[in-house]
Amino acid sequence: MKVAVYVGPHQPFSIEERPTPVPREDELLIKVGRCGICGTDLSTYTGAAGMEMGLVYGHEFAGEVVGVGSAVSEIAVGQRVTAQCVTACGHCEACRRGHLVFCPDWRPHASGGFGQFMTLPAREAYVLPPALTLEDGALVEPLAVGRHGVRLSGLRAPSRVLIVGAGAIGLSVAFWARRQGAQRIAVLATSERRKSLAYEMGASDFLLASADVLPSIEACLGGAPDLVFECAGFPGAMMQAMEHVAAKGTIVGLGYGLHAEEITTATPLFKEIRVQFSMTYDREDYEEVIATLAAGHLEPRCLVTDTIALEGLTEAIESLLEGGPQCKVMVDPWASGPGSSP
Ligand SMILES: [Zn+2]
Ligand SMILES: [Zn+2]
Repeated sequence: MKVAVYVGPHQPFSIEERPTPVPREDELLIKVGRCGICGTDLSTYTGAAGMEMGLVYGHEFAGEVVGVGSAVSEIAVGQRVTAQCVTACGHCEACRRGHLVFCPDWRPHASGGFGQFMTLPAREAYVLPPALTLEDGALVEPLAVGRHGVRLSGLRAPSRVLIVGAGAIGLSVAFWARRQGAQRIAVLATSERRKSLAYEMGASDFLLASADVLPSIEACLGGAPDLVFECAGFPGAMMQAMEHVAAKGTIVGLGYGLHAEEITTATPLFKEIRVQFSMTYDREDYEEVIATLAAGHLEPRCLVTDTIALEGLTEAIESLLEGGPQCKVMVDPWASGPGSSP
């Protein structure tokens, strides 16, 4: 099978032939149809995440089951599935809740979605209903991240919501906040390139970041935000969220930052702010995302701006790092050549 191997920081992915994996008795063999490029893939590529070299990454995948191990009875060849970003032991408390990154034994998939095939324990697969495409299936993971954050936020119908960051996660939060009944949802971003996507995903206002943006936020929302979703992860983002949020408000941290963050504790103290971080998703989130898409709420399809071949992976990641125009870039490991198509 053809795969794209991570060989080191800022090194072009190595496009190689590797043996197609053989499913163990409790596993499925998946023919990968689509795999989205995630922000964490950018940190893998730059080396910032310190990921192991020589592996095939890609965790936002969906594909068709083309083989099953001898002990698998619940899923059959021909069904289409997606799964969470890691694999886990299958019998601890976290695994029972389906929150796999909290399993003490979690690990990346042996070979990820930036390859033509992968294996997966059958118990970790989520079957896609016939109405959904493999591209929809590959969107389940980032949509579940947003759904988990909104769920943990305690958002109630008339909330005023500020979302910092207009990447796939920020836009996913806008989608779920809208579905949850938020009154006003403002998205704050550093450029206007995702403005129309933000409105499509449910935002009521879009603002460009600036030093004195708070009065505009309050004007849009009709007051300071009760809820701030920090989905950008840049240095200073958490302190800024603390300045923007209303007294007794809540900040939900979804941004992935690898820097130290400086907080003046008087700011959150005087406002009695609650800070809630949100890490991936659990089974309930996955099931809710799939059911919502299957019910015809397909606005998130607008997030996909490009579909590329494995040979285009390096170039796409470089472009995303430079702040290129794409939002969610999908890899089709069966497409040939580096070209991209809409
Ligand atoms: Zn992801
Ligand atoms: Zn476990």
